[in-house]
Amino acid sequence: MDIRVEPLPDDRKKAKVADETKLGFGRVFTDRMLLAEWKSGQGWVDARIEPYAPFVLDPACLVFHYSQEIFEGLKAYKWADGSIALFRPEMNARRFNLSAERLCMPDVPEDLFIGGIEELVRLEQDWIPTSDGTSLYIRPAMIAVEPVLGVKPSDHFYFYVILSPVGAYYAAGFNPVKILVEDKYVRAVPGGTGEAKTGGNYASSLKAGLEAKKKGYDQVLWLDGVHRRYIEEVGAMNMLFAYEDRIVTAPLTGSILNGVTRDSTLKLAAKLGMKIEERLIDINELMADVRSGKVKEAFGSGTAAVITPVGVLCYKDEVVQVGDGGVGLITQRLYDTLTGIQYGRIADEFGWVR
Ligand code: PMP
Repeated sequence: MDIRVEPLPDDRKKAKVADETKLGFGRVFTDRMLLAEWKSGQGWVDARIEPYAPFVLDPACLVFHYSQEIFEGLKAYKWADGSIALFRPEMNARRFNLSAERLCMPDVPEDLFIGGIEELVRLEQDWIPTSDGTSLYIRPAMIAVEPVLGVKPSDHFYFYVILSPVGAYYAAGFNPVKILVEDKYVRAVPGGTGEAKTGGNYASSLKAGLEAKKKGYDQVLWLDGVHRRYIEEVGAMNMLFAYEDRIVTAPLTGSILNGVTRDSTLKLAAKLGMKIEERLIDINELMADVRSGKVKEAFGSGTAAVITPVGVLCYKDEVVQVGDGGVGLITQRLYDTLTGIQYGRIADEFGWVR
């Protein structure tokens, strides 16, 4: 697909953040963005890379009322030799189109999704930070822009990609977080949109997150919406538990996100000789196993969160510490291997890096 590159006037160039340790997550955006439009009867038209700017949209647009919206998240890494790597972008392209299908939105062809990202990142490569643990976060999204108040799929969409130089997702960096197991609110149900990366899933999770923060926890761990008993996932991470010889994680039953980092971590753990169990995890069994020390380590996985150790779990007012509450050996090893591949320090045996 042809992507037009529009000029970037000097007065549209922004100053870069001088101190990369102060980047935080997703607050700074680069000079350019990618934008393409889909119109009923025409398909994808007018793909272009243009100066980053606000959209002017009719207040009636469907996205503002009925949340017909999807997004993705991946990163570009700058290696010590100056080359730039994307990590498994074809998985994000595939997941984006699964989300699109669920939300009655058009398929985005790979040459627009990945080709567009590659071209945009190439143009914006000076924005990729190089300090330890930093990267360029890539946010593709699609929104419904037909201005009509009837509830129906839009006949006009924007697909766009913006870029943000980022540091650690959690302010604590690579340090254990505290997780509250949510027993009041529900994130997803069978047949719902849990597996799609759509804004509504996140909007409806805000209240639980806020209440958890008030109690001193970083995030909530969702239980399944039917039995309120089986572990699902955390706000923006899948959850994995390390026993003596195995990694246990929730199966992909349709109500959790099929995480790129989850899949990669499971493959790395298998390579390290660990058994992998994707199975229903009863929260009562998990709490008992943490209490007895059978669960040695717990961690979340996600593009933004990378691998985040979990030091404390709380369920129905019982607080348990996982292992010694610090960063476990398996968590550290998986973190080092995964980031080693992403930053080109370790050979990529899996062919993940592009
Ligand atoms: N679950 C949810 C709900 C998420 O938003 C994310 C972040 N995309 C993840 C899991 C982790 O997925 P990934 O490893 O692909 O970033």
